[in-house]
Parts: sequence; C-alpha cells; structure tokens
Amino acid sequence: MGNWQDKVRRVVPYVPGEQPQRPVIKLNTNENPYPPSPAAVAVLQAADGAAFRKYPDTDATELVNAIADVYGISADQVFVGVGSDDVLGMSFLTYFASDKPVLFPDITYSFYDVWAELFRIPYRQIPLAEDFSIRTEDYFADNGGIVIANPNAPTSLALPTSEIRRIIEANRDSVVIVDEAYIDFGGESVLPMISEFDNLLVVQTFSKSRSGAGMRVGFAMGSKALIDALKAVKFAYNSYTMSTPMIQAGAAAMRDVEYMKKTTAAVVATREAFRPRLEELGFTVLPSATNFYFATHAKVPAEVIFTELKKRDIFVRFWKKPRIGNYLRITVGTDAEMEALVSALTEILKAY
Ligand code: PMP
Repeated sequence: MGNWQDKVRRVVPYVPGEQPQRPVIKLNTNENPYPPSPAAVAVLQAADGAAFRKYPDTDATELVNAIADVYGISADQVFVGVGSDDVLGMSFLTYFASDKPVLFPDITYSFYDVWAELFRIPYRQIPLAEDFSIRTEDYFADNGGIVIANPNAPTSLALPTSEIRRIIEANRDSVVIVDEAYIDFGGESVLPMISEFDNLLVVQTFSKSRSGAGMRVGFAMGSKALIDALKAVKFAYNSYTMSTPMIQAGAAAMRDVEYMKKTTAAVVATREAFRPRLEELGFTVLPSATNFYFATHAKVPAEVIFTELKKRDIFVRFWKKPRIGNYLRITVGTDAEMEALVSALTEILKAY
C-alpha cells in the first residue's frame, strides 16, 4: 500500500440524530409532525420529469423570489442552499477568513465547531451562563466572527432581539450570523435589522416550521454585499446546489404562509399542553421557544430514560457531554405521540 493515507484530511464528523428505517415515535431530530404544505406536494406530484434533463437554474430564481416576496426584501438579499447546513457551512467558509477566533456558545448547534475544524477556522466556545442563557457581554471581545443560534439549540431558549442588537452593534467589523432555524415557533426574528446592519446574516430553514426536513432547503438573508460574497464562494465550489423540483416545491411552500402559521401554531399548542404533564412526572423543562423541550429529571439519569424510551421505540436525543449530560432533548410531536411519550415515561419512572 502507498502512502496516500498520510495525505487524507482527517475530520471528526457531526453526528446527526438517528433516522431508523422502521416506524417509531421519532422525537429526536426536531422534525415537524405535520406534512409540508399541500401546495408544495402538488407541485412535486405534477412535476414534469422531462424537464430534469436540463441543469437547474443556478440562481434558483423562483425560490429566491418567493422568499424575497414573503419577507418583503429584495431578491439580491437572499441566498438559498441545500438545507441550512449547506448555507451555514458555506457561510463559515465565506465570512470567517481571518486569524481571529470566531465566537459561539459552548452549548449550541454541534455543527459549528465541526465546520470550524473542517475549514481550519480558529474559534472560541464561550460558556453559557449557569442557567444556559447567553451573556451578551461575552461577545464584546475581539473576534473573527460571531454565530448565535436564536432560539438556541439544544437549550430551546430565546435571546431577546435587543440583546442581539447589542452584540451586532459591538461587532461592526465582523460578520454576525444569527441561525434562526426555530424562529417561527416563538422567537423574535432579527430580520428587520438587515437593512440597518450590513454585517448581519440571518439563516433560516424549511426543515422545521415548513415541515420540509427531507426537502433540504435553507436560506440566508442579509445585505447585498454579504449575499454577493456568499454567492461567489458557492459558485467557486458547486453552482448547482438546488434541484429543479425543490426550487419549485420550495417556492410553493414558502408562499403558503397561512399553512406554515397554522401548523406551527398546532406544534406550539401541543408544546404548551404537554409541558405541565412532563413537569408532573418530575422533569424540569426549560421555557421553550422552539419545537422541542430541553428537560432534566430530578431523580432518574437522562441516559437511563433515553435508553428505556428507545427500547419502547420512542426516540429522543441525548448527548453524553459536560453540562448537558443529564438532559434530554425531546421534539414536540402530535398530541397522540406526546400521550404515548407520557405513558412510556410514567411506566419507566415508576421503577425508580
Ligand atoms: N441550525 C440549527 C440550530 C439546527 O438545529 C439545525 C437542525 N439540525 C440546523 C441548523 C440545520 O437544519 P437543516 O440543514 O435541516 O436546515
């Protein structure tokens, strides 16, 4: 064997939640329990297969225009990608090219440090406060960029936009990325601030509030200068990220604002209805502005509950990590799924 192995890039990959290929109660990856907009499904059902012969529109114009129309911004302030992971990864590559460390919380979306390592971007993970809140002042240090998930994952906590404004105001010489994957479930978006701050990039996704995790559509909104830089990097790497069917179905899903509002309201109603049920079982549940709970039990270790639930075909998320090793992240499903969760938990906790 030759020595090619020495030349291979070694990375520690991101670990996604399990996607079991059999029916289970799946509360482990924050998918939406409701189907995507019927308008988007209709577009896919009516798709003209012959049109797939051609390459897609590299600018995904139909989808970009739909996003621009819905949010009342101009098309040159919108960038789309294959889920927000694609958009975020591309953003790390684009905006974080300095030698100074990029700042993000120690407990946040666990892809951020993976991209930083992959692209060899220096970074510093800033500890959240004891109650898992973000301390605004911690982001006033010199840096090469800032990434804040708001609401944060897996904590489910939202930071007021006034606090994010303070972070942006103190960092006019860096790009500030606000990852709003869960914003439609109760947080307040900083989108209106993109006209004020040319260094603010707001990233959102179709995976959660638009029930499209399998569609793989994400988007970023920001100043034209920021979006132009992102497009240049994208076109330096892969110009055909978006497939023709997803450009079309994505546009239909985006324009169906009413359906998105209705289904997110249903998820929020379930979230609030089942919070006291979990509390009655002895859980402390953080105040969620998302479609998931972050919860810890007073007596029974999270890992035990996680394993026992899995035996009953109920999947939730658990990380054996410092600070959060006794917490479970539980996606809000349908009322019926949550009832099944509560009965399984009742049975499991009875034994302790
Ligand atoms: N940001 C956060 C905070 C997330 O939790 C997720 C979901 N794993 C993503 C981004 C990426 O989601 P997607 O690529 O499906 O848009």
